[in-house]
Amino acid sequence: NLPVCECNSCYGGSDCSQFNLTCIADANGGDPYFLEPFWMQKAASSAVVVAGWHRMGYSYHDKSTISAELERHIRKLHALVGNAVTDGRHILFGAGSTQVLMAAVYALSPLNSSSSPARVVVSIPFYNLYQLQTEVSNSVQFKFEGDTSSWMNYSDYANANFIEFVTAPNNPDGKLNKAVLHSFYTKAIHDRAYYWPHYTGIPAPADDDLMIFTISKLTGHAGSRFGWAVVKDKAVYERMARYMELNTMGVSRDTQLRALKLLKVVLEGGARDLFNFGHETMSSRWVKIRKTVSMSKRFSLQEIPPENCTYFNKIREASPAYAWLKCEREEDKNCYTVLEAANIIGRAGKAFGAEDRYVRLSLLRSQDDFDVTLQHLNKLVLEEGGSK
Ligand code: PMP
Repeated sequence: NLPVCECNSCYGGSDCSQFNLTCIADANGGDPYFLEPFWMQKAASSAVVVAGWHRMGYSYHDKSTISAELERHIRKLHALVGNAVTDGRHILFGAGSTQVLMAAVYALSPLNSSSSPARVVVSIPFYNLYQLQTEVSNSVQFKFEGDTSSWMNYSDYANANFIEFVTAPNNPDGKLNKAVLHSFYTKAIHDRAYYWPHYTGIPAPADDDLMIFTISKLTGHAGSRFGWAVVKDKAVYERMARYMELNTMGVSRDTQLRALKLLKVVLEGGARDLFNFGHETMSSRWVKIRKTVSMSKRFSLQEIPPENCTYFNKIREASPAYAWLKCEREEDKNCYTVLEAANIIGRAGKAFGAEDRYVRLSLLRSQDDFDVTLQHLNKLVLEEGGSK
């Protein structure tokens, strides 16, 4: 007897090979389900069992709220991957990088509430949490002030307080962004969520004053809510730590335990298993989507140059987390609706401060999500026919 085939909802037929054209492709969210098969292979070694009596108190034995063992593993991982300098830097944990980003804005804003609020800026296209978080705080010490480039010619530029978000690789377009504003009073928050070999070559260890990382895009455990900052300046670190203490009194000790277990598994064998898997999966997806879009005049994708990777010890092609798709036709001003009509749900350009001619398609979701997205996109491109 043949086993009964349980088809994904997008496929049917006795061998699950018939694609259902009405199936909706979810290319919206940033859930890194592409790493699920990796963790299925490591199911036993990555499991955490916690007895009911374990670690019930507020702090660790050294009275801190940060697991020294986890911190040590994070430093070891950065040294191994070569993606960040951590020697002589402070490390601070947060509930996802989301919480650390907020702490960083707070810590970099002026201490003195009588001075004008720091202008929080970022280059378009940008991850819109930066704007939403800054606005929800409604603080007198910092204010979201939009696109970085619009401030470059500001007459009082040199005397104003700026906090610039710099995202490298960038969400949504995968570019290795650099800081744009350089003045004595400008502070930068370097969001390095995607600076791992899955998504980019690692040309050199990042060496910025304030860098932010997360396991969400490293191991894929977005639901565990664990991120960290690597901070050069002690006073900035202390302000961030104060924010964490008042906000949540540090990261859940259970989460820290799970993060430690995951990192121990990652570090086995020089982390090769995870990064080989991550890089191969993401680059094969990028090759496929590029091939499809290259046959089109209606759509185009961002160009990302090959990058030297000191971790893999070679020059390598891009393998970004997201496709930043552009609708080229004059009449396709709303690219989101063009794709929606073809059953692909992406995220509209305006969510990134950009034109709606752009849509972000997530490439880091499950293999099914990716395959269905590609099927629909292929169909759209084939339908262009003679109308190029
Ligand atoms: N920074 C960037 C650039 C992101 O894309 C994300 C998640 N999509 C985050 C930060 C937040 O991630 P988390 O809070 O899960 O660490």
